Amino acid sequence: MVLEAQRRPLALREVPVPDPGPGQVLIEVAACGVCRTDLHVVDGELEHPKLPLVPGHQVAGRVAGLGPGVQGLREGDRVGVPWLGWTCGECEFCRHGEENLCPRARFTGYHLDGGFAEFMVADARCCLPLPAGFSDLQAAPLLCAGLIGYRCLRLAGAGSRLGLYGFGAAAHIVVQVARHRGQAVYGFTRPGDAAGQEFARRLGAVWAGGSDEMPPEPLDAAIIFAPAGELVPAALRAVRPGGVVVCGGIHMSDIPSFPYALLWGERRLCSVANLTRQDGVEFLQLAPRIPVRTEIQVYPLERADEALRRLRAGQVRGAAVIAIGTAAGGAGHPG
Ligand SMILES: [Zn+2]
Ligand SMILES: [Zn+2]
Repeated sequence: MVLEAQRRPLALREVPVPDPGPGQVLIEVAACGVCRTDLHVVDGELEHPKLPLVPGHQVAGRVAGLGPGVQGLREGDRVGVPWLGWTCGECEFCRHGEENLCPRARFTGYHLDGGFAEFMVADARCCLPLPAGFSDLQAAPLLCAGLIGYRCLRLAGAGSRLGLYGFGAAAHIVVQVARHRGQAVYGFTRPGDAAGQEFARRLGAVWAGGSDEMPPEPLDAAIIFAPAGELVPAALRAVRPGGVVVCGGIHMSDIPSFPYALLWGERRLCSVANLTRQDGVEFLQLAPRIPVRTEIQVYPLERADEALRRLRAGQVRGAAVIAIGTAAGGAGHPG
């Protein structure tokens, strides 16, 4: 499924199977999660994508070919491909464990063709081993919703009361990890989204309400997954002095001005950008120990655009996943 120009629907196209270059592997894709970042690319909120582009950056598949010089992977290995697709390895960020901030980094499904396809190539160094016990469809959402959520959770700290603003794919995984760490989770949805609040409670949130509501107790930390700038002052209002608000999205509408009193009291506000390979390795080892259970709505490849539309409309419960090849066999109709 190809994006030929931004703000246009994806188009089903026959394209040649890509050749793995030096250090790359060819991957036969089985499943690819759908992320809000895909929407930001398609809708033009992220600028200058590769065009034409195959979107998708939560890929589960198998190695089907090796380019020159690949080490540590063999044909048939089951791998995941995340958003981080290539880093320079030389800059100050790369050399100090902050490759997520590499100014030359290239991202899957944005600068590089991604997983809304039967085949793709990926840098072997960025491929992650997928945990046993997760089907390809179940594993796909771990690769961004899970990984970025995990990095957000790390920056939010281990305080006992954690708020999650926007209860989509990332939050539905983070709530499980946070509960495993002994944190109480407070879920915030769009005001009036009773079904979303019920979903949050069913996954273990101790409280769920609208983003215009205050939680019953002050929060130690909050993570904002929804791309709405007005949630920043709302979340600052909900955290205690010394608390932290983490913005987990790659794009957000403008943040409205707010009184300094909301930040005063040593509250902190930060963003999370991308992921490191170390985040990926850690989270994919942790997920089966909890164990994380992903709730997915499955779409066949040719209906990827419908999955994007439903995500844009806030109609996806849990995570949307594109099923490709053999994984599509039992995909059925999305719930
Ligand atoms: Zn993503
Ligand atoms: Zn770098």
